[in-house]
Amino acid sequence: MSKKILVAGGGGFIGGHLVDRLLKEGNEVRSVDVKSFDNWYQVHSEAENLELDLSEKEASIKAADGMDEIYCLAADMGGMGFIENNKALCMLSVLTNTHLLMAAKDAGVGRYFYASSACVYNGDKQTDADVIALAESDAYPALPEDGYGWEKLFSERMCRHFREDYGMETRYARYHNVYGPEGTWTGGREKAPAAIARKVAEAKISGNHTIEVWGDGLQTRSFMYVDDCVEGSMRLLASDFNDAINIGSSELISINGLVDMVADIAGIEVTRNHDLTAPQGVRGRNSDNTLIKEVMNWEPSISLRTGMEKTYAWVYDQVLASKG
Ligand code: NAD
Repeated sequence: MSKKILVAGGGGFIGGHLVDRLLKEGNEVRSVDVKSFDNWYQVHSEAENLELDLSEKEASIKAADGMDEIYCLAADMGGMGFIENNKALCMLSVLTNTHLLMAAKDAGVGRYFYASSACVYNGDKQTDADVIALAESDAYPALPEDGYGWEKLFSERMCRHFREDYGMETRYARYHNVYGPEGTWTGGREKAPAAIARKVAEAKISGNHTIEVWGDGLQTRSFMYVDDCVEGSMRLLASDFNDAINIGSSELISINGLVDMVADIAGIEVTRNHDLTAPQGVRGRNSDNTLIKEVMNWEPSISLRTGMEKTYAWVYDQVLASKG
């Protein structure tokens, strides 16, 4: 059955893919972003597209009006290079989730999804590249990523209390490193998969096969392809489960391994120049998917190789186009 659905942050990476999927399933979608339309990754003409700053209360009221469901993906964020240097800006995203939650409550919105992050997890549990995957209980006692992670943990908590105190159906997922086409690939906010794809594409195009890698490259992560992220988010919002839950891939890889994979996709060999002073985030992190498998009988499963082939192809085209 068709629903009226707001995607807050619809001009962003994940938001653009989510709007696409919701429209394909026959929903009426309102897509809202603070950025001007020229800077949206995807503008879907069948959606109602609005430029609004949702950190402002009046804008959130306008955006929530008449909606059956809301996905709150709007946040000031980026890769480690951005969040380690913009902690105040990251924390100010609390205004957006606060005003949107309040507006949703007053408008009687049926279900509300909040995009949290693996950055809420206690840093002491992520000091080794040889990781024990993070289960949902590992967020407490709290020692999240400073700035960005604290905001996410606080906003999760607020979603929980809006449910307990006001009876709102809130859901919140901890995304683990999402990647794919139609997202940030340059400019300082890009994350490792897009940054590595860009560097390898530049190496291939220029013939200079030495690329810079942040840290010693032994740090480990899992990366989730955006289609899995959208699928998991929609499944969660439709479900009865209302506590914190990981939505992430459990395919662990080192950054060096990711570089090798992308170089192989590009068909070149690269020499790595390691910048040990660059921001690196935690030493190792993976998603424990025990809970999501139990609750949804599903987990993200698109392989990193498959996802990176699509991402590299898209980033390569962007790099080529940028060179005129
Ligand atoms: P993104 O930066 O591409 O998208 C976020 C969008 O929100 C941007 O287009 C931005 O302009 C918009 N926005 C910011 N402030 C706004 C405001 N006040 N009003 C309206 N729009 C505003 O990021 P993304 O990768 O698509 O991430 C979406 C959500 O998922 C974010 O909440 C992010 O923190 C969360 N998340 C993402 C990842 C990831 O790896 N991409 C991992 C964990 C969590």
